[in-house]
Amino acid sequence: MITFDNVNKYYGEYHALSGINEHVAKGEVLVVCGPSGSGKSTLIRTINRLEPIASGRITVAGQDIHAPGLDVNAFRSHIGFVFQQFNLFPHLSVLDNCALAPQRLRGLSRKQAEERALALLERVGLAHKARAMPAALSGGQQQRVAIARALAMQPPLMLFDEPTSALDPEMVGEVLQVMRGLAQGGMTMVCVTHEMGFAREVADRVWFMDHGQVLERAAPEDFFARPQHARAQQFLSDIR
Ligand code: ATP
Ligand code: MG
Repeated sequence: MITFDNVNKYYGEYHALSGINEHVAKGEVLVVCGPSGSGKSTLIRTINRLEPIASGRITVAGQDIHAPGLDVNAFRSHIGFVFQQFNLFPHLSVLDNCALAPQRLRGLSRKQAEERALALLERVGLAHKARAMPAALSGGQQQRVAIARALAMQPPLMLFDEPTSALDPEMVGEVLQVMRGLAQGGMTMVCVTHEMGFAREVADRVWFMDHGQVLERAAPEDFFARPQHARAQQFLSDIR
């Protein structure tokens, strides 16, 4: 589904991604972890071209995402992206947040888009909040709406960049539960998260990043029991 072929990225002089050669399979649930500043957000943002790269190649579903003539907005509309901050449209109801883009970008009628949105709100446990405004929801509820909104575009791939790290602790579980359901449904997912319990239970694979490199890639049972790299060992002992 995603291939990184010798990808390099710089911020000025700083080598933020250094020779990334990796593959994410269709249906895979990948957790990317690593210390602050290691390049996790930069990496995940390259996948939908939110960050330009200096060299190398990234393909998503067989498409070179830097191919000349690529319609970036159309390409992005096929990738769901959920950030730390929920970024709901504050002036739109929960239902309209989820129903807008499918009407504008997929040509659904209002009725079709609302039906789809309601079904997704049901799936994230928020059908009863369809008419509410975002400001009236808790952080955990807003993040679940953000996930439903992304799913409304029926993306084959979902990216998550620390979706729970802005939440109060008691709301983390409900968001992880929605992500767990998605993973069980076969969604291809790249998740930057510090939730190592989620990684252990849900991930097919874990990447450990440091200094702009993927230093380790392993099944969670191996990564947590036997981290190979000294920096991975240090990272795990620091967060335990
Ligand atoms: P965190 O866990 O804190 O979110 P991260 O692993 O996501 O960290 P990135 O945000 O990808 O790390 O940043 C990687 C490195 O690139 C850091 O050293 C950061 O300071 C630097 N960096 C990130 N964005 C920019 C930018 N827009 N301009 C300059 N440097 C940047
Ligand atoms: Mg980050």
